[in-house]
Amino acid sequence: MTEALHHFFNGQRVEGDRGRFGDVYDPATGTVTARVPLASVDDVKQAVDAASAAFPAWAATTPLNRARVMFRFKELLEKHAGDLAKIITSEHGKVLSDARGEVTRGLEVVEFACGIPHLLKGEHSMNVGRDVDSWSEYAPLGVVAGITPFNFPAMVPLWMFPVALACGNTFVLKPSERDPSAALFMADLLKQAGLPDGVFNVLHGDKVAVDALLDEPRVQALSFVGSTPIAEYIYARGSANGKRVQALGGAKNHMVVLPDADLDGAVSALLGAGYGSAGERCMAISVAVCVGDATADALVANLAPKVAALKIGPGCLDPEMGPLVTGAHRDKVRGYVDAGVAEGADLVVDGRGHVVDGHADGFFLGGCLFDRVTPDMTIYREEIFGPVLCVMRVPDLDAALRLVNEHEYGNGTAVFTRDGGAAREFAHRVQAGMVGINVPIPVPMAFHSFGGWKRSIFGPLHVHGPDGVRFYTRLKTITARWPETHTAEFVMPTMK
Ligand code: NAD
Repeated sequence: MTEALHHFFNGQRVEGDRGRFGDVYDPATGTVTARVPLASVDDVKQAVDAASAAFPAWAATTPLNRARVMFRFKELLEKHAGDLAKIITSEHGKVLSDARGEVTRGLEVVEFACGIPHLLKGEHSMNVGRDVDSWSEYAPLGVVAGITPFNFPAMVPLWMFPVALACGNTFVLKPSERDPSAALFMADLLKQAGLPDGVFNVLHGDKVAVDALLDEPRVQALSFVGSTPIAEYIYARGSANGKRVQALGGAKNHMVVLPDADLDGAVSALLGAGYGSAGERCMAISVAVCVGDATADALVANLAPKVAALKIGPGCLDPEMGPLVTGAHRDKVRGYVDAGVAEGADLVVDGRGHVVDGHADGFFLGGCLFDRVTPDMTIYREEIFGPVLCVMRVPDLDAALRLVNEHEYGNGTAVFTRDGGAAREFAHRVQAGMVGINVPIPVPMAFHSFGGWKRSIFGPLHVHGPDGVRFYTRLKTITARWPETHTAEFVMPTMK
């Protein structure tokens, strides 16, 4: 049976304008499991009405009481982590243990937000002048919106809304229309945690909903995570409308393997980081840059049989790799593999014909491994977002750094080596926002901030951690004197 999904405004399930719908698939079987409403401009107005009405009271709630709601939400999320993981797997396709990992990484941001009374403490200076004190406060912005991608239907929203809500804002989440149910599940948990109605709203939709949010004057700030062309568009249109915008985009993450690296360790890291979640991670390693032909030959010889033997199946059975999110996306990734072959790369492992028994209609693709990829090839220049790893060969560390730094994306990168000096030099010179040293996926913890460089981000602030608190608040600095008398001063005030 196909489930009919709903929006969530003002603490209630709302059908909305039922003019347009999107199909939601079970990627393991290829069947449509739900229909998601695609919001009209009127639906967007309704969501923002709810968030606007809820803002004054929520902003006036003390930070300690907002933190207490977050504590209760954290407990509920822990209790229902397994249910949420199942929902993620059923619509995204990733394997169950990976979905559990996603929930855990999101939960850590809720834990961070539980410390909001401490995070919102401003600075205070006594006697900046004689009998004059000065202090700063962090005020919430108002209604803020989040627009999120399909690949982390729980974690990416959780990067945003716990911090935004704890800071005193109200939130409209527009999740990916490809896997929308995780957002609704979290909305129910927030309600159970005692969050007042209207403080958190879920609006389903596509470009129509996003454009209406971008043009809605009451939306003060917008966090976006998704592909680079859309991120760039969101940043430009949101900023032109006077909003604060952070827009995180796509990636091409290089892992540089130096000749002295532990080869078995590097191969294991590449298997997980290249093929985990079927390569549908913005921090997936999609390029292995080997320093020296001997390193590349040994790495490919070791890696290839393991890629060919990846255990692939429905995510609910928890194999190593599940299907891709939709048939259209699987076909797009397969098209990139065709292009790589046509452009002359050496396809060492070809997963294009992979079939999973009993799941002929699922959106599966086997792991693919290319060797001798060159910088001019499409499979190197563009983000593939699938289980396709490219091996490239360079003569030395300088050439590896040049390659990474010349790529338009700069999300994450990693170096594998036993040489501390080389690792230090790499970390210092590389142009990327997140760097791993013998760590393939260096996703920062919740109390640090996540974000890339170059065309992997638009806007100055990263998400969650200290940057998240800055993004969702505005600074006010107050200077106070309690004088006995006032005298007119016509010169620039200087402290005496
Ligand atoms: P996407 O850009 O297609 O969609 C992201 C969001 O934008 C969705 O909510 C979607 O409904 C909306 N959208 C899509 N087309 C739009 C349009 N024309 N106008 C306005 N809104 C539109 O991305 P996706 O396929 O869902 O996710 C994968 C992408 O996200 C990859 O490029 C990946 O690298 C990126 N990503 C980046 C990060 C990061 O932290 N930098 C994290 C996760 C995913």
